[in-house]
Amino acid sequence: KKRLWRLGKRKEIIPSNIRDRIEEVLIPEHWIDKRVKNLAKQVCEDYKGVKELNLLIVLKGAFVFGWNLGKEIYELEGPEIKYEFLKASTYDKGIKVTGEKERKVRMQLKPKKEDIRGKDILLIEDIVDQGFTLSKIQNHLSTQRLNSLKTCVLLTKRLYNPTPEVKEFRKSLTLDYVGFSVPDRWVAGYGIDSGHNFRQIPDIIVVKKEKYSSGK
Ligand code: IMP
Ligand code: MG
Repeated sequence: KKRLWRLGKRKEIIPSNIRDRIEEVLIPEHWIDKRVKNLAKQVCEDYKGVKELNLLIVLKGAFVFGWNLGKEIYELEGPEIKYEFLKASTYDKGIKVTGEKERKVRMQLKPKKEDIRGKDILLIEDIVDQGFTLSKIQNHLSTQRLNSLKTCVLLTKRLYNPTPEVKEFRKSLTLDYVGFSVPDRWVAGYGIDSGHNFRQIPDIIVVKKEKYSSGK
């Protein structure tokens, strides 16, 4: 009960032009910050003795997460952080439909071979839903000559009704670090968009159903 009250309060302070398009605040900013600090601590322990860690950020959704994680690793005096980026786009203006078997994932920007070769790469993704995006990226990276590859995602969805194909996809993924598990709803905020909106909200919010696609 107390929790709901706090989430309600948090929603009150979201600007009114955005408030009417969101269902609720799912994870407030200060919870995310705490979790990111924790993940950074884990990363520092796992990469003890490693000089340089390359955060390979999946654009656009993971830019806030990647930035904050790097900052926390820095503050813990962990490995020196370098940033690389790649861009993948799966849903664009739409959302998933129930019962999907596959999805085209566009990799618009790949890191140059020579920029990642021989390096310790920590892939940073915002959210795993059906798993198509991460699977495509991990498959691509597995063909590259990296020193090591681990994956860190902020959110994974507990899928309500996945197809057998999707279940398989999800199983084939390696998730080394996970921030939060979230229910099967359409979320945004903290860098994550819904139809190109809401990236600037510092909390993770649930988007109102009728506001899923772009436009309004
Ligand atoms: P997947 O390929 O189904 O796992 O979807 C993952 C990609 O879709 C992520 O890179 C996200 O950018 C995007 N995505 C999945 N679920 C959501 C959501 O709830 N809100 C916003 N974007 C999402
Ligand atoms: Mg994405």
